[in-house]
Amino acid sequence: MERLILFDIDGTLTRTENGYLPFNEAIFQTFGIAGDIRTVVPDGNTDPLIIREIFAKAEVDIVIDDNDWKRFTANLQSCYQRHVRQGLTTVRALPGAAELLRALANATGYATSVVTGNFEVTAQVKLEAAGLFAYLSRGAYGSDSAHRPDLPVIAKRRWEELNCRAIEPEQCVIIGDTPNDLAAARSNQMKCVLVGTGRYPVEELEYRQPDGCLAELSDTQAVLMTLANL
Ligand SMILES: [Mg+2]
Repeated sequence: MERLILFDIDGTLTRTENGYLPFNEAIFQTFGIAGDIRTVVPDGNTDPLIIREIFAKAEVDIVIDDNDWKRFTANLQSCYQRHVRQGLTTVRALPGAAELLRALANATGYATSVVTGNFEVTAQVKLEAAGLFAYLSRGAYGSDSAHRPDLPVIAKRRWEELNCRAIEPEQCVIIGDTPNDLAAARSNQMKCVLVGTGRYPVEELEYRQPDGCLAELSDTQAVLMTLANL
């Protein structure tokens, strides 16, 4: 059976050091407020909701319109690109991520894309910096919807448009590192494999009963076996 594998980015494929620097700078450039992403738990959330939580936590009452989001997106992209270029922010592929994506590209019956709470511009910067961008077709992003469960079906639709054929939800597998990834998969009747490389230890993820659970992606054969047995 053909499978569309929808990867989460942060904590699943990549780890970012000092990602708060460009994020906070973009907040200040756009809204004139010194918001700090380190005051909230971003894991499994979407960037638009993260921004709203930062302001709520700082007790800043602010109305954000479409134009603000456009400016924030442009600022976030340029801040992220500059910080990565200067080495102030680093994004690296997690162990086994590149090998897994290469193996899936060479295997028959697998397609790979992303479902992430990142804005599309940041997702691209991160995946390029980690050397993973070329392996993943356009998926769904926090810039498409702030509500993570909306995203899997958007990624599925984009894949279908690109490939001119339909794929069933049961053929789609979300690979993520948080209970929110699992909830997004469940609400779309998709399968889910969770990995313990993010904030949540693998035991806690196992307790949520995903379709598959792995400590990390470093053993390519073990991941392929897990996917084959779904
Ligand atoms: Mg994640």
